Amino acid sequence: MSTPKMIAASTASQLLAGIPQQKAGEVKVPVNVRGQQVTVSCPRTWCTDPHTQVYYSLEDVSHRSDRIFMAVPTYNGPTEPALIAYISSWPFAGDRATAVPHMVLEAVGDDDCVGVTGEQATALADQLRVHADNMTRMAAIVSGGLA
Ligand SMILES: [Zn+2]
Repeated sequence: MSTPKMIAASTASQLLAGIPQQKAGEVKVPVNVRGQQVTVSCPRTWCTDPHTQVYYSLEDVSHRSDRIFMAVPTYNGPTEPALIAYISSWPFAGDRATAVPHMVLEAVGDDDCVGVTGEQATALADQLRVHADNMTRMAAIVSGGLA
C-alpha cells in the first residue's frame, strides 16, 4: 500500500491549468443540441433557465435569470411591463461582451433590448432612484401636498 503524496497548492494549480475549472455557484447541466446531449456549466446562483429546449447549436445555449419589470398603468386598463431587466450570458456565442454575465434592459417590452455592464446598470439604478424621488414629489403635488 502506498501513501498518497502531498503536493503544494501551486503545483496542483499548474497541473490543473489545462483543465477547465468550474466556477463557484455553477453546476453541470445536460443540454440537448440537435439530439446530442452536451454538458455545460450553468451559473445556478442566477440562471433560472431549465435548459430543456432543443438547441440548434452550442452557440445558442444561453443562461438567463428571471425578468424583473415595473408594471406601468395604461389608459385602457391593463398594465404594461416597462424597464424589463434580466441577467444573461452567451458563453459559446463567440462574443466576449456577451459571454460574461451582463444585464439586458428592455425599455417597454418591445424586444428592443440592450446589454449593459455592471457599472452601467449601477448608474441606471442611481438614475431610477432620482426619478422615483421626483415621482414622489409629483405625487405629493397632485395629492394636494407641497413638493
Ligand atoms: Zn443556465
